Amino acid sequence: MKALVYEKYAKDNDFASILKLKDIPEPNVKQNEVLFRVKAAALNYDDIWGMRGKPLAVPLPHISGTDAAGEVIAVGENVKNIKVGDRVVSHGNMSCRVCSACTSGREYDCRDRKIWGFETGPLWGGYCEIAHLPEINVIKIPDNVSYDEAAAASMTLLTSWHMLVGRAKIRPGQTVLVMGGSSGVGIFGIQIAKLYGCTVIATASPEKLEKLKELGADYAVDHRKDDWHKEVRAITKEIVKLNGGSPGIDVIFEHIGGSHFNKELTLLKYGSTMVTTGATTGYDAPADLRHIFFKGINILGSTQGTRAELEEGFHWMGQGKIKVIIDSVFTFENAVDAHEKMLNGKGLVGKIILKP
Ligand SMILES: [Zn+2]
Repeated sequence: MKALVYEKYAKDNDFASILKLKDIPEPNVKQNEVLFRVKAAALNYDDIWGMRGKPLAVPLPHISGTDAAGEVIAVGENVKNIKVGDRVVSHGNMSCRVCSACTSGREYDCRDRKIWGFETGPLWGGYCEIAHLPEINVIKIPDNVSYDEAAAASMTLLTSWHMLVGRAKIRPGQTVLVMGGSSGVGIFGIQIAKLYGCTVIATASPEKLEKLKELGADYAVDHRKDDWHKEVRAITKEIVKLNGGSPGIDVIFEHIGGSHFNKELTLLKYGSTMVTTGATTGYDAPADLRHIFFKGINILGSTQGTRAELEEGFHWMGQGKIKVIIDSVFTFENAVDAHEKMLNGKGLVGKIILKP
């Protein structure tokens, strides 16, 4: 079968010199696994880290691809709930399933956890014609969700769902601030908060503000402005006039970090919550601690999520309540262009899809 393989790490992001379309043997199905013919896979930033070999020296030779969707063509003898012909998408969070974190429902905290297509291998990821995964690492795709949409949603939808539903436990009537609303996780953050009956203020750069409204955000704010947080503060006063309560934010959906972090803290209500999953503009975020202790703020870290949460998110995709944005579709032959587009990031809204 065809697979996108690299055998050494890239220098200076020269992906063209290492990433090759190769013929490799088809996998044999193990007792607990399903084999599926890949119809679509979605790019994630861990593909870039993998090819760089930094911050993690991924196993070589390597096949990337954490989000893959396809049709099941074989199942192992111990597989119970998936059958040949099923449409499935990967749950790329591979945990041990027996440690105390896993058995208390926190598979994302498993110390043996590996991200499929990033930390797995050699030659075990989604950018190939026939992929194999344990039954527990795939879920069925609702009928009216396409393979492209399923691949585009898997890891980012799960991350966003876990942040807001699993960690921050959002409730109807809350005011939610989604930072970076046009990003992969932000797109879902807006829609999940609306699904839960929240008022949503979302931020993005000026050319993407209209997109936020299309996704359901009630208010859109340009976070490139120095005093963007003052604009958010003013909006929360407007929301109080409409809905009552006190001004400020109940839940902040954070993955930006850097200089925005402290401004975000000033917006939070007493006893409110910030949930964070990343730091795209910088890990070192100054924080005026008075905002945290005096207001009794909860700061929650979050990464990945559970298989059950992924199923929940996909249920609502099947109901048409959560939509996916696909930026562009590439073939395996043009994988280098696809990765360069993701690295460049300019004008990118939504996911990049790769197809065999
Ligand atoms: Zn475990």
